[in-house]
Amino acid sequence: MLKKYDTIYKSTSETGAISEAAEILKEGGLVAFPTETVYGLGADALNSDAASKIYAAKGRPSDNPLIVHIADKNDVYKLASEVPECAKILMEAFWPGPLTLIFKKKEIVPDGTTGGLSTVAVRMPSHPDAMALIKKSGVFIAAPSANTSGRPSPTAAEHVLEDMNGRIDMILDGGAVGIGIESTIVDTTSSVPTILRPGFITRSMLESQVGQVEFDKALFIQDPSVKPKAPGMKYTHYAPSGELSIVESETTPGKVTDSVIDTINNLVLSHEAKGEKVAVLATGDTSPLYKCKNIILLSDTDDDITVAQRLYGALRECDRVGADYIYSESFSGDELGGAIMNRLIKAAGHRIIKV
Ligand code: AMP
Ligand code: MG
Repeated sequence: MLKKYDTIYKSTSETGAISEAAEILKEGGLVAFPTETVYGLGADALNSDAASKIYAAKGRPSDNPLIVHIADKNDVYKLASEVPECAKILMEAFWPGPLTLIFKKKEIVPDGTTGGLSTVAVRMPSHPDAMALIKKSGVFIAAPSANTSGRPSPTAAEHVLEDMNGRIDMILDGGAVGIGIESTIVDTTSSVPTILRPGFITRSMLESQVGQVEFDKALFIQDPSVKPKAPGMKYTHYAPSGELSIVESETTPGKVTDSVIDTINNLVLSHEAKGEKVAVLATGDTSPLYKCKNIILLSDTDDDITVAQRLYGALRECDRVGADYIYSESFSGDELGGAIMNRLIKAAGHRIIKV
């Protein structure tokens, strides 16, 4: 049972805030904290009761395992029963940072943290507040994104407050996050390292370290009977309240063509004629071409790093303006554009209008 309390809200710069959060974690409570990817909702990963509170607070399906956060690379050996050579290379190259690795788990990691799987997901975050919290508490922190299940992941402490106020013990406000989309997840237990969730660390960055890297095939297959290897990837996610559709050029996916712009403008017109509220998610270069009252900018020019930073905030902004319908430009590729598109497709419940 969750206690009924007011959630403590403190800036990480406030004296004693990290120590207070560390005490809460040690006692089996829940603390939301900033990482470089998105805000996490943390609990003691080796305390099954504490980890189970995360599922209750988020309304998260119990088969969706948690990522365990560590502050020292060597701690991997306390959690993983086997650390393959490719994992050692990736840890050296990308930790601390936005890369999660999947290992065969040791007995001490409870089923409550791994959703009953025999594997465990581990990440060493680079955010100084996340690092400080892990070190101060002395526990490994199980932390999924600190949003209500299905909602956009939080990239600012205010987003966490919107979803979690009264459901968790504490929110540490460390300002806006740097990356904005969740970590890349790589399964190191398969013969060829496999990307289960795309992210800021791209396939080419991984391949430059360990040679061939594959994508989980289920990432690109629409058939719901093909199960993704990361259980969380099968759920609709990140969705705003309004109905989001992506408008994509059939011949040049990811490129905003004249017909993409015309299609979005016609859709906006027809909704507005019916008195419905519409928002358009656009990148800077093309944003002046839309005729819509609510144009939400994903970037000032066309750079994907900014789009990743702004994406979830933009989806929450669609709710704030009360949009009934939302149209977004599309993104593509094996690099960051593909990771952005992966999130957008889930947020849109796979509604893509091809033109
Ligand atoms: P979140 O932290 O909310 O972004 O979700 C964590 C993601 O990691 C989900 O998609 C999980 O399914 C995935 N995950 C966590 N542990 C494992 C594991 N042992 N094997 C595969 N995927 C995992
Ligand atoms: Mg999440």
